[in-house]
Amino acid sequence: MKTANEYTFTNLKAGAGLDAALKAGRTGVISELREAGLRGRGGAGFPTATKWNLAAAASGEDKYVVCNADEGEPGTFKDREILTLRPDLVFEGMTVAAYACGASRGVLYLRGEYAFMRPALEAELEKRRSSGLLGADIKGVKGFDFDIRIMLGSGAYVCGEETALLESIEGRRGEPRNRPPFPVSSGLDGAPTVVNNVETLVLACAALANGAAWFKGMGTEKSPGPKLFSVSGDVKRPGVYEFPFGVTIKEVLKAAGGEGARAAIVGGASGYCAPAPEFGRRICYEDIPTGGSFLALGPERSIPAAAENLLEFFAEESCGQCVPCRLGCAALLKGLRSGAPLAELVALGESMQVSAKCGLGQSAPNVFLSMARHFRKEFDRRKN
Ligand code: SF4
Repeated sequence: MKTANEYTFTNLKAGAGLDAALKAGRTGVISELREAGLRGRGGAGFPTATKWNLAAAASGEDKYVVCNADEGEPGTFKDREILTLRPDLVFEGMTVAAYACGASRGVLYLRGEYAFMRPALEAELEKRRSSGLLGADIKGVKGFDFDIRIMLGSGAYVCGEETALLESIEGRRGEPRNRPPFPVSSGLDGAPTVVNNVETLVLACAALANGAAWFKGMGTEKSPGPKLFSVSGDVKRPGVYEFPFGVTIKEVLKAAGGEGARAAIVGGASGYCAPAPEFGRRICYEDIPTGGSFLALGPERSIPAAAENLLEFFAEESCGQCVPCRLGCAALLKGLRSGAPLAELVALGESMQVSAKCGLGQSAPNVFLSMARHFRKEFDRRKN
């Protein structure tokens, strides 16, 4: 377990990732990240090398690298830590991605609530421009031109979904697009676009600077490397922690002083609620995946009340574009409040998982469904 100032990336030498990338060459970067097995840290876990390779192979002169810093998952605040401690590495990771994919333009899409960070981030960009780390012929490499601008989000959770985020950057209402085409072939302004999470970009630098073998030395076979966790809820020491992937729920609770918890919600509002008998399970893509949110529920917590709280969030944040989510989130919440039969609510949640258009609606019922499975009696005791 590592805490602030001890994270894997905290002491990474500035420029080491970019230097390693330029030494390896464009295809070498992708091979090294493939060998490292780096997967996106935003939650979906898509292999970074595959994404970069697809964008590199896509035809188009003006490609984009977009950093998704729209950290809006309830209980998630680890990207804020990275952006505060090492903004240089986030921009360095974007520059490395641009080099590998042949992109010339970058956008950091910053969560609206993080507007207070903007001056420091702009100052960092200026510093990089004057040091030849952004602009034309970066580090003296002829034709390696790349620059980054910052755009502020406006507080919509759905803009964390990459295509809704792109719509927002283009000045439209943040609504998910139909896929395909995927952003790697047709993203921002129709150009091939790589969208990566803040943590992913920083870890790409770390993996290149320290090598694939170092990276693979942490974590599990299908989930290599370190992972940041935002730990909150009923724990004595909430905060950001770093563990290798594969850490158990019990270990996270112990580190944060939450041993008495009756359940833990892993992966945020759209994740999974594990009851105490499952605290030996591992957090990784082989078992319970996560984008980094970890919420402990103490012995006094009402599980149905927690489910209601999360569904209220989704009913509020649904963009309204598709029926299963627009009506489903509201119906689940209403049914839970009115004491509708649990089996009916479960059936509704399961139908949303397969029929909603984007990840928001598909995963909105996840925590409720796992709670209904593990804490059925508590739901049955609800007042009619
Ligand atoms: Fe919008 Fe929800 Fe449909 Fe996604 S699932 S497109 S958020 S209404």
